[in-house]
Amino acid sequence: MQAALFDGKTLKLTDCSLRKPAADEVLVKVSACGVCGTDIKIVAGKSAATPPVILGHEYCGTIEKLGNQVKNVSGGNFVSVDPNIYCGECRFCRTGKINLCENLMALGVDIDGGFAEYCLVPAKQCYQLPTSMNPIHAVLMEPLSCAVYGFQKAGIQSGNSVVIVGGGMIGLLMLKLCRLSSARQIIVVEPDEDRQATLEKSGADIVIDPNDETYTQSILDITRDGAEVVIECVGSSTAVEQSYHLLKRGGRLVIFGVSPSDQHWTVSPYELFRNDITVTGSFLNPFTFQTAVDLVTADKIRLDDIEIKTFPLNRIHDAFENQIQQKSMKTVIDLNL
Ligand SMILES: [Zn+2]
Ligand SMILES: [Zn+2]
Repeated sequence: MQAALFDGKTLKLTDCSLRKPAADEVLVKVSACGVCGTDIKIVAGKSAATPPVILGHEYCGTIEKLGNQVKNVSGGNFVSVDPNIYCGECRFCRTGKINLCENLMALGVDIDGGFAEYCLVPAKQCYQLPTSMNPIHAVLMEPLSCAVYGFQKAGIQSGNSVVIVGGGMIGLLMLKLCRLSSARQIIVVEPDEDRQATLEKSGADIVIDPNDETYTQSILDITRDGAEVVIECVGSSTAVEQSYHLLKRGGRLVIFGVSPSDQHWTVSPYELFRNDITVTGSFLNPFTFQTAVDLVTADKIRLDDIEIKTFPLNRIHDAFENQIQQKSMKTVIDLNL
């Protein structure tokens, strides 16, 4: 079968062979697989992986074969795959912090993933989806599950002002989740004009351009001295610092964007203390994949209105380039093309 294999230096389309599923595995015929910022970082040598490995960790497909001990899914099921595999045995797993698992392995990062015609998946990582769901939207289940965790950590309460900094794919999913809360107002900070229009259509109360010099003051004015919750979805120390300055006293900052590991941000401990500020990270998707699936299947979160550019597997390099240039909200490899 054809697959996009990362050999530690480059990503190459390769003819790979497949073994039979083990007792607890299923063979998934991949329908679609999203290109994530992490894939780009892995190939650029800026994010860890275990090569040689087939990349792609946001994917869905149909189950073709089952190991003889699989019970939770059946042949023909259309499933989304949670790529993050926790050991269940380490101290973190045993205290409910599975995203911090010391032996964490991820499909498409450490084990062969979804940029391929087929993929072997531990059955427990599969979540059944309605067969009517379009695969190119179903790949968003993984990023949505991560956004659900960030949303939970934000702890939005009735009447809160919420600011989402960054209106890309994750900022948009976060906006859709925040719309389910009883926040008083949801403000999104995003410079790109096309994205601004999308965010307004998706329910942002106000979209603000960070290139406008007075934008921080505008947000402080609109929110009456700052937001109770600010969710940073950009991934840079500058964005985190700007986000921090949008908080009201007693506010909570969720760092969702993945900043480069060598960036830092200077903050006054006195201010954190005196203003009773909470700063939290949001890493992966512990116990939130089912929630993401449920929200989408119950039509509480719509994914079918998100602008997606698709590529066949043999144009994976063009797809990566599209993602790097951010030419569309999302880039997806469609195995049916
Ligand atoms: Zn990802
Ligand atoms: Zn563990």
